[in-house]
Amino acid sequence: MTFDVLIIGGGAAGLSCALVLGSAKDKEFAKDKTIAIIIHQKTSHLQNALFNNVLGLQSGTLGSDLLKNGKEQLNDLYRHVNQIDNEKVVSIIKNDEGYTVKTNKDNYQSKIVVVAVGYTNLMTIKGLEKYTESHPRVAKEKDGIWLKNTDHLIEDNLYVAGTLAGWRSQFAMACGSGSHVATDILTLWNDGKHTKIHDKI
Ligand SMILES: Cc1cc2nc3c(=O)[nH]c(=O)nc-3n(C[C@H](O)[C@H](O)[C@H](O)COP(=O)(O)OP(=O)(O)OC[C@H]3O[C@@H](n4cnc5c(N)ncnc54)[C@H](O)[C@@H]3O)c2cc1C
Repeated sequence: MTFDVLIIGGGAAGLSCALVLGSAKDKEFAKDKTIAIIIHQKTSHLQNALFNNVLGLQSGTLGSDLLKNGKEQLNDLYRHVNQIDNEKVVSIIKNDEGYTVKTNKDNYQSKIVVVAVGYTNLMTIKGLEKYTESHPRVAKEKDGIWLKNTDHLIEDNLYVAGTLAGWRSQFAMACGSGSHVATDILTLWNDGKHTKIHDKI
């Protein structure tokens, strides 16, 4: 399968990126683009988080509910965003057309890839070793990692979002990072014209 953009990771950053990209569906520059997300959620830090300090979230909100509801929201509103379930990425390899993303079950080709798999040093995706460094904003004993980037861009058409992009681990920051990458991609598709997607009453 071939996509214009493939997001890897179904946590805070990956879901936010997918929602913003999906919301551009009626824009001329985005309407023919194929978008997919490998919506692996098993190891998301949201799985055992409890939220009291996030604007817009009722205190006591469970991270596990955000994962479930986020997936449903994406499916209900932006069904054209392909959700790839029950697969884990094992390698990302650059080629002439973009990137080949290999999972434990399949292979995908995408012009743009967004890596949003969290900052844990358990991340073992082949092809990312040369960008992997110790996280610059995490306590040493946590031993977190980031993918070296400039404004989320690792190299041409390869983005990183969320805690793995070097942000501290707060939900709003991870969501903001994923949304930021989405608007960068929309701006690219819109011939460099700065782009955001707003719904209005
Ligand atoms: C116990 C706990 C409590 C927290 N409480 C708060 C709080 O009160 N307030 C607050 O603001 N923040 C809180 N946080 C932090 C918040 O949960 C994180 O900042 C946020 O989840 C980070 O988002 P992310 O997208 O970078 O990573 P994650 O949400 O961890 O998402 C990464 C995703 O990538 C997927 N993945 C991993 N490897 C692969 C692979 N090889 N292929 C495909 N997918 C893969 C994972 O399954 C996961 O879904 C808490 C975190 C924890 C652990």
